[in-house]
Amino acid sequence: MAYSYEAPVSQTLFDRASLVTPGGVNSPVRAFRAVGGTPRFMVSGTGPYLTDADGREYVDLVCSWGPMILGHSRPEVIAAVQDAVARGTSFGTPGEGEVALAEEIVARIEPVEQVRLVSSGTEATMSAIRLARGFTGRAKIVKFAGCYHGHVDALLAAAGSGVATFGLPDTPGVTGAQAGDTIVLPYNDLEAVRAAFAAQPGEIACVITEASPGNMGVVPPLDGFNAGLKEICAADGALYISDEVMTGFRTSRAGWYGIDGVRPDLMTFGKVMGGGFPAAAFGGRADVMAHLAPVGPVYQAGTLSGNPIATAAGLAQLRLLDDAAYAKVDAVSAELRALVGEALTKEGVAHTVSAASNMFSVFFTDEPVRNYEDAKKQEAFRFTAFFHSMLEQGVYLPPSAFESWFVSTAHDARAVERIAAALPAAARAASEATA
Ligand code: PLP
Repeated sequence: MAYSYEAPVSQTLFDRASLVTPGGVNSPVRAFRAVGGTPRFMVSGTGPYLTDADGREYVDLVCSWGPMILGHSRPEVIAAVQDAVARGTSFGTPGEGEVALAEEIVARIEPVEQVRLVSSGTEATMSAIRLARGFTGRAKIVKFAGCYHGHVDALLAAAGSGVATFGLPDTPGVTGAQAGDTIVLPYNDLEAVRAAFAAQPGEIACVITEASPGNMGVVPPLDGFNAGLKEICAADGALYISDEVMTGFRTSRAGWYGIDGVRPDLMTFGKVMGGGFPAAAFGGRADVMAHLAPVGPVYQAGTLSGNPIATAAGLAQLRLLDDAAYAKVDAVSAELRALVGEALTKEGVAHTVSAASNMFSVFFTDEPVRNYEDAKKQEAFRFTAFFHSMLEQGVYLPPSAFESWFVSTAHDARAVERIAAALPAAARAASEATA
C-alpha cells in the first residue's frame, strides 16, 4: 500500500533506532508492522492529543495502550510526580506512597484483601501464576487462546496482542518444558474447560483469563462464562485468576469485577494504576497472599517495586477517577462507537463494533466474534486502509486490528468532532481496500 503522506523526522528517528534496537522499537506492536508505514515518534501529549516529531497533532485513541484514562499531562498527576521526584527517585525501602496505593486498591476491589506492587503487568501475571502453583502444589495452568498476559514464558502460548498481530503461534525461546504445563483452550467455551479438568483432576493450579479480553480485539465474556470458570476452579481446588491489567480501574471504579461481580482468588493489575509510570500489582485472598515471601515460601521481589514516583502518579490518577470520570469515559466511548458504526455502514463495510464497558474495537466482519478463531476471520486488510486514512487525517488508532481502542476523560467535543470528520474517508478507504 502506498502512503500519500510523509513523516520525515519520524523516519529519520526510526532509521537511527533500527540500527541500535531490534526493529527500531522497544515493544513490537509499536513498529507498525501489521499496517506498514513509519511509526510516529511522539514528543508530547496534552489532553486527548499527541504531537509527533514532525509537529503533527493527533487525537489519541491508544492512550498509551490504556493507562492514560485522564488524558495526557493531567495537571494534578504531573504535580504529584513533580512533588515526589523532588524528594528523590528510589530508596529501596518501604515508603508511605506504596501503602496508600495498596490501600486504594484494597478499598476499591473487594476480593483484594492483600496486594503486592510490581513494575509491569508481565511481572504481575508471572508472580500470580507462581503463587498459584506454590499455593496449590500443582503444575498445570489453563489459559485461553487470544488472551495476552504479558510475555511470561508459560503464557506465550496462543497469546493475543503482538503475538496475534504477527501471527506467531508461539515464540522461539520458550522451551517445551516451560510451555508444557500450559493448557490452551478456546475462549468462551466452558465445556472445553470442564473437559480439561475432567481429564486431569487435581493437577491444575489455576485458570488465568483476561477479565474481559482486549488483546484479540475486544471480545467480552459471554454471560456466565467467568462465573462458570470460578465454579469449575472451586470444585477442583484450583485458583481462578482474573487478569485485570487492561480492564482494572478502566471499565469501572472496581474494573471488570465491578461489572460482573465474580470473585477471583487472585487478580492482576497494571496500566491505569500506574498513571503512565511502571507500576502494576497482584493481589487477592489473604490466605493465598500469605504464601509469599517474606511471610511464606514463594519468592517474589523487585528493586523498583513500589517506586515512589510511580506510586505517586498512580495514586493521583486513581483519586481523580470518581463516578463522574467513568461516566464521562463511558459516554465518549458510546458516542465514538456509534460514529464509527454509522460511517462503516454508510460505505457498506461489513463490521462489528465490539465493546466491553468503555473499551471497544472494530472487527471487519459481520459474523459474531466470541473467540480468537472468530476474530482471525475478519478482513484485517480493511483495517489497514482504515488505519492509514485516520492517521493521515490526524487520528492515532492502535496499529493493529487485534487491539482495543482507548478513550479518556479528556476526549472532549472538539476531539470527537475531529474523529467524526475523519471517519467518512476512512470508511471509504476500508470499503475500497483489496486483500
Ligand atoms: N495482561 C494484560 C491483560 C495485558 O493487556 C497486558 C499488556 O498489554 C499485560 C498483562 C502485560 O502488561 P505489561 O505490558 O505491563 O507487561
